Order: sequence, then C-alpha cells, then structure tokens
Amino acid sequence: MRALVYNGPRDVQVVDMPDAQIERATDVLVKITSTNICGSDLHMYEGRTDMEPGRILGHENLGEVIEVGAAVDRVKVGDRVCLPFNIGCGFCANCEKGLSGFCLTCNPGMAGAAYGFAGMGPYSGGQAEYLRVPYGDFNCLVLPRDSQEKESDYVMLSDIFPTGYHATELAGVQPGDNVVIYGAGPVGLMAACSATLRGAAMVMVVDTHKDRLTLAEKLGAIAIDDTEGNGVEQVMELTGGQGADRGCECVGYQCCNMHHEEVPNLTMNNLVATVKATGRIGVVGVFVPEDPNSPDKLQRRGQLAFDFGAFWNKGQSMGTGQANVKAYNRFLSRLIEKDKVKPSWIVSHELPLEQAPEAYQNFDQRKNGWTKVVLKP
Ligand code: NAD
Ligand code: ZN
Repeated sequence: MRALVYNGPRDVQVVDMPDAQIERATDVLVKITSTNICGSDLHMYEGRTDMEPGRILGHENLGEVIEVGAAVDRVKVGDRVCLPFNIGCGFCANCEKGLSGFCLTCNPGMAGAAYGFAGMGPYSGGQAEYLRVPYGDFNCLVLPRDSQEKESDYVMLSDIFPTGYHATELAGVQPGDNVVIYGAGPVGLMAACSATLRGAAMVMVVDTHKDRLTLAEKLGAIAIDDTEGNGVEQVMELTGGQGADRGCECVGYQCCNMHHEEVPNLTMNNLVATVKATGRIGVVGVFVPEDPNSPDKLQRRGQLAFDFGAFWNKGQSMGTGQANVKAYNRFLSRLIEKDKVKPSWIVSHELPLEQAPEAYQNFDQRKNGWTKVVLKP
C-alpha cells in the first residue's frame, strides 16, 4: 500500500509499504478514504520527538471497514467508520470511565495510545491506504447514512472537533461565560465553535495569523491579533479589566517557522494573566515530554516554565491532556447529522495522499490559507 512515512526532521515521503492487516481477533481493517494532517503531526515532523524513521504518520482517519477479526461482532464489513485518534481497550479502569485517551492497556505505563504517534504505542498511522484498528468494536465510530456526502465533516470527529470541545470541557465553559482561546489553528477554531455551542457570551481568539483569525470571526468570535498590539491588554480591555471566566490553550509547543528556530511559548503566562481570579484553564496544546537524552533541550519541551506563583495567587485551576475523543463523539456526531454544525468549514485543502509532503511543508510553515488539509489515499 502507499503510505506517508517519517524519514527525519521535516522529511516525509509517500512510499510502498506492506499492506496493513488483521493481527488479532479483535482487530478491524479499514480502507482509508480521508485522513487529515494535524498540528500534532508537526511535533513529529519538526523532529521534536523520538519518532522512528520509517513509521507511518496519521491519527485523524475515516474509511470503510473491509475485514473484521473473528472476535469482532458489532462492526461489519462495509460500515463507514470514523476512528477516534486514541486507541482504547474499552475495559481498563480509565476506559471504563470514558477516559479512553489514557487507556492503561494499549500503551502500558505511558499516557494513552494513538495511531502514528511518537510515545503513544507502536501503532501505525492512517495516512495510508489501509489501517489496522485494534479493539475494533470499541474504537470504530460507525457513521450514519449521510456519511459519504458529509465525509469532510465526520472526519473531524477523529480529533479536532472533540479536542476543541475537550478544551472547553477542561475549562468548564458554561452559558454566559466570557472565554479566551489562545490559538486559531484547527483546534483553537474548534474550541471557539464549541464554546459557542456551550452558550458562551463572548469568545475571544488570540493568534498572529490573519487568515486564521478571519475564520474565528466568521464563527462570531472576537479575533485578537497579537501582532497588532498586545493580546493580553486587548483581552483585559474587552473584559473590563477582570479577565475571562475561562481560558483555553490550543497552541502547545511551537517553533518559530520563519527562522526554523525553536522559541519558548508564552501562552501559559498569557492565560494566567487574562483569566480572572478563580477562573479555569483547559490546556489541550501539546507540550512534548522532555527527552532525558537531550540535555540541551530542557526548556524547549514539556518542562516549559510558567508563572505558577501568579496562577496560585489567582486561585486558578487547570485541566490538561489528550482529548478523550470517544466520550464526545456520540453527541458531536449527532450535531453534524442534524446539520447543527459543519466542521468542514475549516478545510482549506483536499489533496491526494501523494501530495502529502508538500502539504506538510505548507501547513508547517502556516502558509496563508493552509488551515486544514484532508488527504485522500
Ligand atoms: P497549529 O499548530 O497549526 O495551531 C496553533 C496556532 O497557534 C497557530 O495558528 C499559531 O499561529 C498559533 N500561535 C502560535 N503561538 C501563539 C501564541 N503565542 N499566541 C497565540 N497563538 C499562537 O495546529 P492545531 O492543529 O490547531 O494544534 C494546536 C495544538 O493542539 C498543538 O499543540 C497540537 O499538538 C494540539 N492538539 C492536542 C490534542 C489533544 O488531544 N490534546 C489533539 C490535537 C491537537
Ligand atoms: Zn490530530
């Protein structure tokens, strides 16, 4: 099969790989028809992780079931399925509680499992023609009848729509809240959409890219351009000097693309400064854990320091981590089915898998207009 593999920093390639296949009785085999590039892929693409060369990337996948293992009895051949990026067993202490992003079976001793993801188990990604789905009965979201005409909506259920929603859940967004969101990338835009769904009174989105901020405005959010005046001051002014009730971090570790230099990211301090005293912060942006073998990279990875003193002084609280996609999929899927939301508005490019390397390059550079790429194997 054709598949996109990681060779090394900013070097990916579409190559021939052995076909994915059923390995265990609980597996399902899916022919991929849509697979997105995610901001999370960039942590691997830019070479910040210990991703092994030769591994297939891709954790935002949708397709058709073409084979099921002997122990699979809910999912059927021919079903069209969206695949939450987390791989869960369905029976461990965390999955049992809906915390499938932290499955204790699929990546023992670590924090959850995912397709094509460094540090999240040995599983291959879906930026390929076929994908093996472990515990298929648990990990396939069987889509409704309109799945083909709304494929680019439903594929967002694999990650960014539930992840944006998760940011607002971690922040505890309630009707009437003022919410500030850092990052107008795909995840931040989905968080803005989710905050609105949850009844927020005012949603402010901070970024530095005009094309993305324009999308935030289309959602009815207030766009705050950090290049045109201090973003923190703008949020404080909009909230009468009090700060927002809730804040979402949808940026994570970023490198400065213009100079290809790694720079510290100050969104955590900005959140602490712009969320009111006792307000809550939801952090879904990924801070790749420190690699103990890279002593020179201490401050540039997960151990990014932020002003814990100010955070403590303001009595704020915070929720963090990968989204438990499955916990949100049933109701978010229904909103798509009933035409209440259309997450495909975020898609800027639909491209054949063969064009993935140039798509990665453009998305990584956050080139004007490259918001979200759906690859079609
Ligand atoms: P992205 O990286 O393209 O989006 C990040 C956005 O943040 C960009 O538009 C960038 O211009 C903006 N930005 C950079 N520095 C900023 C700053 N200081 N202030 C405000 N904005 C700033 O891609 P994405 O797909 O939206 O992903 C965002 C983050 O969410 C990534 O870290 C990704 O790994 C993470 N993520 C987490 C989960 C999860 O389950 N927790 C799932 C998917 C993605
Ligand atoms: Zn993703």
